[in-house]
Amino acid sequence: MINGKEMAPAGVRPVVGRFAPTPSGRLHLGNLFCSLLAWLSAKSLGGRMVLRMEDLDPARSRGEYSEAVERDLRYLGLDWDEGGTCGGGTSGPYEQGKRSAYYQQLLERLAEKGLVYPCFCSRAELHAADAPHASDGDPIYSGRCRTLTREEMEQRARLRPPALRLRVPDEVLCFEDGHYGEMSQHLERECGDFILRRSDGVFAYQLAVVADDAAMGVTEVVRGRDLLSSTPRQLYLYRLLGFRPPVFYHTPLLLAPDGRRLSKRDGDLSLEALAARGLTGREIVGRLAWCAGLLDRPEPALPEELLPLFSWKKVPHSDICLPEGLF
Ligand code: GLU
Repeated sequence: MINGKEMAPAGVRPVVGRFAPTPSGRLHLGNLFCSLLAWLSAKSLGGRMVLRMEDLDPARSRGEYSEAVERDLRYLGLDWDEGGTCGGGTSGPYEQGKRSAYYQQLLERLAEKGLVYPCFCSRAELHAADAPHASDGDPIYSGRCRTLTREEMEQRARLRPPALRLRVPDEVLCFEDGHYGEMSQHLERECGDFILRRSDGVFAYQLAVVADDAAMGVTEVVRGRDLLSSTPRQLYLYRLLGFRPPVFYHTPLLLAPDGRRLSKRDGDLSLEALAARGLTGREIVGRLAWCAGLLDRPEPALPEELLPLFSWKKVPHSDICLPEGLF
């Protein structure tokens, strides 16, 4: 077991949770559900919250969405102690787009261990019809570029810049999720060597999220269960980099009334649209808290009022289909 609880030495760390939105659109109800649980989980233990913008990919992120994220969180009454434009905190910058030099240093530490190699595979090669797929739908990397000779690397580098991949071990990685319990993944068979830096120089989410949660003293990560299958990769990075991992709590997903997964394209379930329809922050929080099993009725509530009611034990494990007409 290598989660935060198992590895905690006698000293107790102050609780730090985080919001880590990708500013590629307006927050939707699923993002808000997760943000509410992250806030309640940390604040019910007297913890602090960090707001970090995961704007790694310049093609997807926009400054106006970062501002909107802050407005949306405030609309619900969710505040934070560090990051964003609130000025607090000493672990900044709190935008991943400004932290590349730090990611590069960590990448070099991993490279010194002989665990990083260039990968020249094209998108088409990676997504070949016969490539096995992981549970999250991504192809499992075959290891094709793992054993290239220096000469082959030089030859290929003339044609295209490589991505950089991390070698994973032939090992089952086990951890305990704070909400879903014991989890395990065979890194090589179920995921394969994974990308740390893309061929266009953009650092990968897996590296950046570990780098930043560690640097910002995050002790608990609360996020949708769609990221559950990324957690073993991240725990592997924690181990290699010698960082103490947080405790992970994954949340069930909120589904649209027709059972679809919500996405940033579901404009009608964005906070912007809900507010335009006249819903107050308290009404939205209360309905989300009811979905989370914290209230018996979907009545208006402030986040603070939910603190005494919060317990992970009340939160369902299966995904939650929004009843027609709730929002
Ligand atoms: N930035 C990611 C997202 O918006 C969340 C990453 C995480 O919580 O680890 O989906």
